Amino acid sequence: MREISRIHFAHLPTRVEFLPRLSKHLGGVKIYIKRDDQTGLALGGNKTRKLEYLIADAQSKNANVLITAGAIQSNHCRQTAAAAAKFGFECILVLTGEGIKTKMSAEIQTLGEKTIDPKVLSLPNGNLLLVQLFGAKIVWAEANQRETVLQETFSLVEKQGKHPYLIPFGGSNPIGAMGYLTGMRELMDQIEASAMPEYPNWIVFPSASGGTHAGLALGAHLFGFQGKVLGINVDEPEDVLKDRVAKLTTMTAEFIEAGHSFTPNEILVNGHYLGKGYGVMGEPEKEAIQLFARFEGILLDPVYTGRAAAGMIDLVRYGFFTADQVLLFWHTGGTPALFAQRYQSDVLS
Ligand SMILES: *Cc1c(COP(=O)(O)O)cnc(C)c1O
Repeated sequence: MREISRIHFAHLPTRVEFLPRLSKHLGGVKIYIKRDDQTGLALGGNKTRKLEYLIADAQSKNANVLITAGAIQSNHCRQTAAAAAKFGFECILVLTGEGIKTKMSAEIQTLGEKTIDPKVLSLPNGNLLLVQLFGAKIVWAEANQRETVLQETFSLVEKQGKHPYLIPFGGSNPIGAMGYLTGMRELMDQIEASAMPEYPNWIVFPSASGGTHAGLALGAHLFGFQGKVLGINVDEPEDVLKDRVAKLTTMTAEFIEAGHSFTPNEILVNGHYLGKGYGVMGEPEKEAIQLFARFEGILLDPVYTGRAAAGMIDLVRYGFFTADQVLLFWHTGGTPALFAQRYQSDVLS
């Protein structure tokens, strides 16, 4: 296995905690949680682990501008902007989101422009507020134009004589996936040291751009994890995600010269909890957020962990997970989205 350079700034290892009241409420299955919502770096989350490798790579290539893309409430963009500030990079974010158009004032719409002062979009809130606090520049793009705008932005920065470094959507390439390969090693060490006192039958977490999933799946394979690694889809259908994760897992294995090729069938995903689509909070997400809050004092987010927890809770209720099993819910962060205007009234209703 090849060594990949990394800068250590995450707060690791993240704790594993038992959730006694939630477990009891759900009828006996034992639920533990791994607190990657507490990885440090601007309120934590799974992107911190990926950025330890991505920032090291950007530095080794002498880059001075980080460019990445995401949705309007992207946690990935928030954490990338914070890492850029911490390590002295400029940061440009290509953001897309439903409703951006409608939120723009008529005056701004007539500009038909890509670079729009976000202050004119109603009040910035949640992650959108934080990325600006970290000094990132925002370029707006229609969802179907994202790749083009990203490329244009990259070329523009090059023309200005700067050295841009492109971090892919969600930080999900083999370099980013390293964060969760070592995350899996960390968990195995915690199991061995009894910091995780019971052997988990299942690891459950939200999966979207696939870097978290790929790292965990490759780690499980390389380090001989005996349980199962189950991603709950938050964005796309099962076959799309399986395919994406299998490819990324294989690429990551090649990257570290650990040579194993993964087929979509080796990747476990559950795509039954997509509800009304990405970022739309429904009753299941709301219930999961309320249960974690009211039984354990833990905050989930409306987009990712709320959805994955809702899936896990449903799988307990209909008996897919049985009372003798040990579950590890890997909390991937995202809490700032709770403070996004669009979710604020729904989360308490
Ligand atoms: C990005 C993100 C995910 C998804 O991780 P991927 O590696 O993109 O699949 C899950 N949860 C939160 C809170 C995230 O921000």
